Parts: sequence; C-alpha cells; structure tokens
Amino acid sequence: MPQYVLAIDQGTTSTRAIVFDHAGAIVSVGQKEHEQIFPRAGWVEHNPNEITANTRYVIGQALAKADLNIGDLAAVGITNQRETAVVWDRHTGEPVCNAIVWQDTRTQAIVDQLGALGGGAERYKAKVGLPLATYFSGPKVRWILDNVEGARAKAENGDLLFGNTDTWTLWNLTGGPNGGVHVTDVTNASRTMLMDLDTLSWDADIAAEMGIPLSMLPEIRSSSENYGSGAGGVLGGVPITGILGDQQAATFGQACFDVGTAKNTYGTGNFMLLNTGTEKVASENGLLTTVCYKIGSQDAVYALEGSIAVTGSLVQWLRDNLGIIGSAAEIEGLARSVEDNGGAYFVPAFSGLFAPYWRSDARGALVGLTRFVNKGHLARAVLEATAFQTREVLDAMNADSGVALTELKVDGGMVQNELLMEFQADLLNVPVVRPKVAETTALGAAYAAGLAVGYWKGEDDLRANWAEDKRWEPKSDATERERIYRNWKKAVTKSFDWVD
Ligand code: ADP
Repeated sequence: MPQYVLAIDQGTTSTRAIVFDHAGAIVSVGQKEHEQIFPRAGWVEHNPNEITANTRYVIGQALAKADLNIGDLAAVGITNQRETAVVWDRHTGEPVCNAIVWQDTRTQAIVDQLGALGGGAERYKAKVGLPLATYFSGPKVRWILDNVEGARAKAENGDLLFGNTDTWTLWNLTGGPNGGVHVTDVTNASRTMLMDLDTLSWDADIAAEMGIPLSMLPEIRSSSENYGSGAGGVLGGVPITGILGDQQAATFGQACFDVGTAKNTYGTGNFMLLNTGTEKVASENGLLTTVCYKIGSQDAVYALEGSIAVTGSLVQWLRDNLGIIGSAAEIEGLARSVEDNGGAYFVPAFSGLFAPYWRSDARGALVGLTRFVNKGHLARAVLEATAFQTREVLDAMNADSGVALTELKVDGGMVQNELLMEFQADLLNVPVVRPKVAETTALGAAYAAGLAVGYWKGEDDLRANWAEDKRWEPKSDATERERIYRNWKKAVTKSFDWVD
C-alpha cells in the first residue's frame, strides 16, 4: 500500500515538492528557486521551461531525500501561483514567450480600454467576482496575442494553449505534446476573469470581448478528482488527483472548512481568505469573490479574499535592491534594534495597490522621514507595512461579512518573524495563531489529492491533523494602536496618482 502523498507547489519564487504522511506531517522537501525576470519597470516574467525543469528536479529531490520511490505515493496534488499566464504551442510544447507573472502591470492599457466599454472596474464583477485589474490572467493572455508576432493567428487556428502554472505543470507531467491533459480546477479558473462564478464554466461573451479564443482555454474541473497520470514520465503511473490555487490550498490546508473560518498567508504577497460556504458573497469593501474549493461532485465552496501584492517581497527588496540585510531572516534583528518605527511609514505600492484600494496608479511611498530615522526604523516600517495592510483587509472582511473574526490563523514564509506576529496581534487586537505545519499550501494540495483516492476519508480526518504551534495574544493600548493606524492611512494617500 502506498504510504504517502506528494504535493507540487509551483510558487512565485520557487517550486517545491513535499512528501506528506497520513498525519499531514512533512516527510521530505525538494525546492528550487527560479529566476525573477524584470525586463522593464512594472514587468515581471518567469521562464516556463525553467519551471518545468525545476518541477522534475524537485520531485526527484524530495523522493531521494526520504529514500522513497514513485510506488510509495498514493497520489499527487498540484498547487500554484495563481493568475500567472503561460501560452504555448500545443504541437511543440514551446511557450510563445515568458510567463507573465501576477504582479506584472503591463496590461494597464487593456484594462482601461475594457473598462471604458462601460462599467469601469466593475464591468465583469457580477459574473466573475473580480474588479478589472492587471492582476488577473485574461488581460495578460490578450496582451500576448496582441504583442507576440504570429500568436493571434496561431491561437485562432487552434494551435495555442493557455494555462496558469497548474495547467502548464499538469500538461507537461502528463505527456506534454504527446497526450498532455489540458485541464485546470475551479479555483484557478476563478482568477482568470473569464469564468462565470455560478455556472463554473468559461463565459463566452467575456472571452470574446477580451479577444481570447475558447479553444485556448483548459477544461474546468473540480479541485479533487483524477485528472490523469504521466505513465512513462517522472511520476510513472501515479495519478494527479488534486489542484488548488495556492491561496485556496492554504485555506484547505488550514482546515478552514466551516463558514466563517479564515486564514492569512504571508508570502511574496499576503492573501486572506474567508470561507463563505456554498453562498457566493459580493464584496462592498474591495475584496474579491472567488472559488475556495470544490471536492469532486460536491457543491463548490466560495470565499471572500483580500489580496495584498507586496509584503514578503518588500523584505526581498530591502535585501536585494538596498542590501541593508543579507537574508530575509536578518530583518527581525535589525528591526528589534529600535523601539518603534521612528515615525517612518512605508507603503509598498510596487504593483499599484490591491485590496482594498485596487489603485493601479499607486506607487511606493516612504514617508514620515526625519534625520532621526535609521535602517532599524526602516526595517520596522517594512515589517509594519505587512501588518497595516493586513489590518485594512481584516476590517474589510469584518464589514462585508457582518461578523468580527475572533482569531486569525496564519502561515507562509514571513510567519517565522515573531516580531511581525506580535505587532500583527497588537494591531488587529485579535490573537494570531500559527499551526505546526506552516507549509499549509502544499498540505492543502496533498489533502485535495488524497481525498480523491481515499487516502484521507473526509474533512474530519484533515481537521484532526491541525495542531497549534504558537499563539500571539494582543497586548496593545487602543489609543496608540489607532494613532499609528491613522498615520498609516495618511501614508497610503501619499502613494496615489503617480502614473500619468
Ligand atoms: P511564496 O510562496 O510566495 O514564494 P513564501 O511563503 O516561501 O513565499 O515566503 C517567502 C517570503 O517570506 C519572501 O518574500 C521573504 O522575503 C519572506 N520572509 C522569509 N523569512 C522571513 C523572515 N524571517 N522575516 C520576514 N520575512 C521573511
């Protein structure tokens, strides 16, 4: 009997393969970073072939580390950076250009043109749950067809395929040009701006308006079912039976199965998702309505989502662009070298501002500077930026749902930062709780895959696996808390109107 489930986490900065056991514990990890390509201001690309090579490599690495072979796996799940768009030739398997990453803002003109047809940013919101923004895949595909020589003609001829990196990974692992399965799941599809949230199928009118042939689009399936296997390939005959976009996977991995439960992931960006059950809730406070998961033939479960573009990547920026720290972890010591932010506030609007503002004209602002401010204060301002943005999203969640969250489950790379977690609990005035398995994204994909093959029997098995690692209780003074939050709000206004 196969003893383990493998999750492939095709993330923004790296690709990981993680082997989990039945208790949801990590058995081994393979990981490889890929290049972040910045061809010009506002553009962010990945090389899809590098991602495929890394995927194969990390699968081998994870298995070798635990001394396992393919036959020890009951199933494989995929989770991925969402919205990032890959377009490739179905006959050769070659991408027509680099993947356009979710943070990329090159589609601004397309987004503006579509909005000008009527309805502005709200044009498709009732159907797809999303405001028109550069973030989502549809406009990125349109840009590729408009700008890559010969792409539109080939697409109209049925020769090109589109996918987010879940689809790209699945297609390659199941044979590529030789019978690769061209499928996505409902959660990834809900981030394209092309899927109707009620019917869970592509909306032909929106696709036509965006100039995207339906023949390019993958088939939409549930998040937990058998999509196929890659006999002869790196996975042998092990079936791929789970797909969830990374944030939905983390929600699933945190066992947020009940209406009203939420998690916040602190990675490259931050993403808070609140399970709203089989009910689709429209936001009036700048949140997205999205599919949370759909297990096989069961009804789809929806979520409200607060997406923040830049949190952990601001720490990377401090490391790579300013060289103030040598590693991301060093920021904590530097920030602890001072008492507070010294009056400095850093609004990291590098990709405009996402939730709750959706201002693509915003750019980064560092304000409140005096001669007193040193790099310790800057480190604090960088960490606090994550916590302030999270507070704005939580306020929006509470307003939309009409119920105040009583605690926040957290995960992601930044939650190793204890100073940030303390500050976060203080600023939200609710406890912040970190689970034992912080790799909830991969865990969620493993769960979706394992459920489909009966490795786990149901949600109760998964709930039983969740265990608390650490809890931060709020200790702040209300007057001070609200004073600094007011200052943050003022700082945000200074980031607006930077794009002509
Ligand atoms: P993703 O899945 O989006 O690639 P991860 O969840 O792996 O991201 O988190 C990585 C992010 O966390 C990076 O942006 C990094 O700068 C940040 N990070 C990692 N460790 C720390 C730390 N100790 N303090 C602050 N930020 C950190």
